[in-house]
Amino acid sequence: MTSPNKRVGVIGCGPSGISVLSAFNQAQLNGQTIPEIVCFEKQDSVGGLWNYTFYTGTDQYGEQCHGSMYRYLWSNGPKEVLEFGDYSFRDHFGKPISSYPPRPVLKDYVVGKAKKHDIGRFVRLSTIVRHVEKVGDQFSVISENLKSREQKKELFDYIIVASGHFSVPSQPTYPGIENFNGRIMHSHDFRDAVGFQGQKMLLIGNGYSAEDIALQCNKYGVKDITISYRSSPTGFKWPEGVREIPQLDKYENGRFHFKDGSSDSYEVLMFCTGYQHHFSFLTEDIRLNAKNYLFVEDLYKGIILNKNPQIIYIGMHDQYYTFTMFDIQGCYARDYILGKIEIGNEAERTADIEYWGEYFSKVKDGHDEIDYQRDYVTDLLKYCDYPEHGHEKRAELLHRWKGERKENITTYRDKSYTSVMTGDVGPIPKTPWMKNMDDSLEGYINTI
Ligand code: FAD
Ligand code: NAP
Repeated sequence: MTSPNKRVGVIGCGPSGISVLSAFNQAQLNGQTIPEIVCFEKQDSVGGLWNYTFYTGTDQYGEQCHGSMYRYLWSNGPKEVLEFGDYSFRDHFGKPISSYPPRPVLKDYVVGKAKKHDIGRFVRLSTIVRHVEKVGDQFSVISENLKSREQKKELFDYIIVASGHFSVPSQPTYPGIENFNGRIMHSHDFRDAVGFQGQKMLLIGNGYSAEDIALQCNKYGVKDITISYRSSPTGFKWPEGVREIPQLDKYENGRFHFKDGSSDSYEVLMFCTGYQHHFSFLTEDIRLNAKNYLFVEDLYKGIILNKNPQIIYIGMHDQYYTFTMFDIQGCYARDYILGKIEIGNEAERTADIEYWGEYFSKVKDGHDEIDYQRDYVTDLLKYCDYPEHGHEKRAELLHRWKGERKENITTYRDKSYTSVMTGDVGPIPKTPWMKNMDDSLEGYINTI
């Protein structure tokens, strides 16, 4: 049994960190005593990936630049799926807004939730966590204020790692690639489609980044884009100027050669090959080893490190449910730390993990994946106190979304969804997404 008279260190204040801090604030509003909480955030503001930065490589402090989002990024799922159970879009914007907002709108919404819960009192901005290690029953954390360069060493009873996992690129190599004279980059460093006009682009990988960057670039006038897939083609009906071909084999004599025997030349090679779970600040005994899957083997209930349950990870799965899943994980973590949830011994926890692993092994396609993540979140909800928010119905929205993407990848963002919380119907955008070049908050709010 745990006690509230403890210190909790939270690493990262993106949507996952905000969810954790909001959960503790809610407990306090409900009259409960909460532990002392310190949240370390290396950026100058909260919001995680939703903060746009022009930096690539290293940031203004010489640290690895966290940002992977680009200008003109719009939500790739209907906002009705990620609507916070305790803070609706209507609460924030005061009127119905359409279903696929651009990045600044979602950032505004996330920050709105942070303000509602007054989380600023927990957060040390511009402060990076350099090192965490186990010391007796506690954890020593070395952090550094990036502005003053002052370092601090403190002890905590629980560590909640909410540092994200879409920031450190995963980047393969191919024979001969070092001889290519064009531009080589990872989607992590992609910021602006306009700069690629007139260039011929090869994108490696066909996940969400490849798909969206290809569409962005096509929208902003890049005429020749090839997507090279490893496992299987997406089967989307791409607009003119975008095509999908099998995996790259090698670069030789000025040409890229593919597994189907074809070859071509390009000016830009962009790896859209995803990201690594990377926690260099944690010692090996408490560091999560995971890939971007819906099931994470080392985590009980997808959040508690089985071999050391004082270490909690939030937001480490691949994500269909995003913000609401982080919120519910945050609630579970809070209630566990407050001693309201018993997690059993290691063998009992392992048995539960095996149940989910077994279930995951039967997942065959994207629709199964949606149901799997729905069921995972439903399971967490059984244990914690989170507002009713139509969780199960959101899976139906996701199934519909999958179908609409398949039907037409260039128009799916023009569809309307209905909030399962407020009943608000998202207005159909006046300008279709492929023609709308205004991704500002003001443009979006005032023209719908
Ligand atoms: P992050 O948002 O990555 O936040 C982690 C925070 O931890 C950051 O603020 C970082 O600065 C901080 N941090 C990291 N290391 C340290 C350290 N050592 N010390 C202190 N602070 C640290 N999701 C959607 O729902 N809809 C979308 O349309 C969508 N688009 C996306 C587009 C891209 C290109 C990417 C990469 C992801 C997208 N996502 C989208 C998924 C996105 O991961 C989540 O929406 C969300 O941002 C995850 O929140 P998080 O808090 O777990 O991680
Ligand atoms: P991802 O989903 O992990 O996809 C990685 C892709 O790279 C997959 O197609 C994978 O192929 C391929 N790949 C990995 N290693 C490879 C290798 N060695 N050789 C060839 N191909 C390889 O990563 P992501 O596409 O960057 O997406 C990350 C997150 O960002 C997702 O949550 C996504 O929703 C989000 N995102 C959102 C938007 C938006 O519009 N809002 C835009 C971009 C990204 P396999 O299929 O074979 O594994």
